[in-house]
Amino acid sequence: MDTRMRSNNVLSKALQCIKPEIRALAGYTAPPQGTVVAKLNQNENPYDLPEEWKMAIFKQMQQIKWPLYPEYNPGSLKNRLARRFDINENQILLGHGSNQLLYLIGTSVINPGDRVIITPPTFSLFDLAIRISQGNIVNIAKQSNFSLDMDTLVPAVKTAKLILLCSPDNPTGTVIALDQLIEILKKSSGLVLWDEAYVEFGGKSALNLLNAYPNLIISRTFSKAFGMAGLRLGHLIAHPDIIRELQKANIPYNVNLFTLMTANYLLDHQEWMESHVKKIIRDRKKLFDQMQKIPQIKPYHSEANFILFETADKHKTFEALKSRGILIRDVGNKPPLDHCLRVTVGTPDENKAFLEAIRNIV
Ligand code: PMP
Repeated sequence: MDTRMRSNNVLSKALQCIKPEIRALAGYTAPPQGTVVAKLNQNENPYDLPEEWKMAIFKQMQQIKWPLYPEYNPGSLKNRLARRFDINENQILLGHGSNQLLYLIGTSVINPGDRVIITPPTFSLFDLAIRISQGNIVNIAKQSNFSLDMDTLVPAVKTAKLILLCSPDNPTGTVIALDQLIEILKKSSGLVLWDEAYVEFGGKSALNLLNAYPNLIISRTFSKAFGMAGLRLGHLIAHPDIIRELQKANIPYNVNLFTLMTANYLLDHQEWMESHVKKIIRDRKKLFDQMQKIPQIKPYHSEANFILFETADKHKTFEALKSRGILIRDVGNKPPLDHCLRVTVGTPDENKAFLEAIRNIV
């Protein structure tokens, strides 16, 4: 056997070592990065930090020792977050983006075959995280107006180990009423993860329910309203006992020095985030109104920083926008999203470029 054949044999055996359930996955896909006219495909915040703030943060970074690990339990950041949400520091768990914390919940909670409920159409990573942990996915489809099918969901939550909900949801932009969440929390004998990644843009936070329902875990992120997607910071908020157990499975030092410093800085200047959120909400309304005037497309009402819309030939629309440097998101080919695309609310100029292009295309 020549070296190349031997190497191929070893590789094929090595690949067999990776669980078949993982090998069977399609995996997460992300669009390539690059300079474009308008990047409206990943629900990012279009507003970057002011230059002088960046300089102030760089200066702080210069003054600390990079070879040292960051704090194991970042008290300063947890303290600021606890004050922001009026909770205790021991109710917070920090992660390298909220996606990492979703995976942490998957690996700490789901045993192979455990029933885990999701309500499609919903955040695509929910499905992937459950598959990676070999959970048994129970899909309880949303109704045609994207509201929860409570008649089917409520009886099902009694036997599920975990229920994953998102409000405002991605990609629909719809919110789940807190009354419905309460009904689910009451009937559930498992944990309920409530992802409020977009809550600054609409819908209601479930923070006030934490005391009454210790089976509730709230997930939040700095990637959207705070515009820190590139620095990766998310956090879970739950009962201290739940946080303590999850922390045991968390990767130590998963939030780096630079991220910690920037998040602390932004939490000391929250009015900056709030003013941009207000702007994005105003621009969402303008964008929605303009989209409604285009007869060939049908936008859905959204409480997040993006708008889902239907169009007859979505592949043609998507490609034609792309060729004009306008990137939006194709949200998949499964009904009820098979005719849908999703556009992020950008700056007024980006929204204008999108609207002009789509008017010409459709
Ligand atoms: N939750 C939802 C519903 C999202 O849409 C996203 C971003 N796509 C995330 C969480 C991920 O956030 P992070 O950047 O904190 O991992």
